[in-house]
Amino acid sequence: MMCGAFESPSTPVIDIVEGLTLCTDCIAYIDNARDTQLSKKKRTSAKKGKSGSVPKPKEIKAFLDEYIIGQDEAKKYLSVAVYNHYKRIAQMDGKLPQDDDEDVDIEKSNIILVGPTGTGKTLLAKTIARLLDVPFTIVDATVLTEAGYVGEDIESLLTRLLQACDYDVERAQRGIVFIDEIDKIARKSDNPSITRDVSGEGVQQGLLKLLEGSTVLVPPNGGRKHPEQKMIPVDTKNILFICGGAFDGIERKIASRLNTHVVGYGHDEKDRKRQRENLMRYVMPQDLKSFGLIPEIIGRLPVLTALEPLDKAALRRILTEPKNAITRQYEKMFRIDGVKLVFTDDALDLIVDKAVEYKLGARGLRSIVETIMVDAMYEVPSEPVDTFTVDAAYVAEKLQKAHFEKTKIGD
Ligand code: ADP
Repeated sequence: MMCGAFESPSTPVIDIVEGLTLCTDCIAYIDNARDTQLSKKKRTSAKKGKSGSVPKPKEIKAFLDEYIIGQDEAKKYLSVAVYNHYKRIAQMDGKLPQDDDEDVDIEKSNIILVGPTGTGKTLLAKTIARLLDVPFTIVDATVLTEAGYVGEDIESLLTRLLQACDYDVERAQRGIVFIDEIDKIARKSDNPSITRDVSGEGVQQGLLKLLEGSTVLVPPNGGRKHPEQKMIPVDTKNILFICGGAFDGIERKIASRLNTHVVGYGHDEKDRKRQRENLMRYVMPQDLKSFGLIPEIIGRLPVLTALEPLDKAALRRILTEPKNAITRQYEKMFRIDGVKLVFTDDALDLIVDKAVEYKLGARGLRSIVETIMVDAMYEVPSEPVDTFTVDAAYVAEKLQKAHFEKTKIGD
């Protein structure tokens, strides 16, 4: 690669060590290449496991730990389920050592993750996908409707999986599908006979067919099936389904089952929040039923685990600790321009306080940091600085300015 400094004399250069000067384009190139290589190496070793076999549950969890803060329980369940998924596949392929119980089939255990929005359900699924070498896809349950109504056919869930492996049906049949927002297809009323429930029970019945394992006809391009389209038969028996949902309000169902009551209005917000956090831990299959999932679906999702709401300490860690933490991403962007970016502790604390104050949770951390950093991202590349420090005063000033501008627009 030709060095940018030769192509354009205006490209800034940096002395790396004595006798070695590189332009910022070259540094960025090397940085990128090294990161890609490192993560490839790491992934390959986790993928194969220490013994060159499939990764063990502890290895899977350790990989998840690098990207996701907390949620130990969910990580453990997920690691075990994925490991067992690999084992089932190995058994089918006759790759497991022979044992006496030839007749015992390892059945798959689909998973359901329950937890407030923005606590890492999708992130868990995405991170697992980075590690696996089986096809993987994330689909949203809200776009599905019963056949005959506007929306997508349930079988279209598998279109994405087929696309993820270039329509290799054999591979797709061993893949993993993450179905997000499963709570949105809950039955709306306890009495299913009153009106047709287009997006509720009908969809659940359709989904059941996929979860329990049968051969379904998948439209190759998704959406609605139409008669002239050639369908692809896919057997779902060995596809692992992971479902996620916020199940807003489920703590009331848990509370009534446990014979306690959720503190109503009038009590302070802190009390209510604490109670919600505690209750979620006790979620049981029958609570999902009270929420509106049909028992057959629940029966096909035997692994149920809850994600914890993220408190301030967890949000603070999310800002800096995960491998691709937001602050690390900004530090990298500045490094490419030859500038060292520093976030002071009080700046990070304030960012977390604001995320809590605006009730934005983990998802809000990024938007707050983006708001704070936009001026610096605009100005710093043209300025002769080595270090740029973001302290609490800077955060406060930028947030106030953004807020001020917003109110002005609203006027
Ligand atoms: P959910 O699917 O539970 O609604 P997501 O997984 O989409 O939430 O989380 C939204 C964003 O918040 C993620 O992209 C990530 O940046 C951050 N986040 C949420 N939970 C965690 C966590 N436990 N550890 C690290 N980052 C998290």
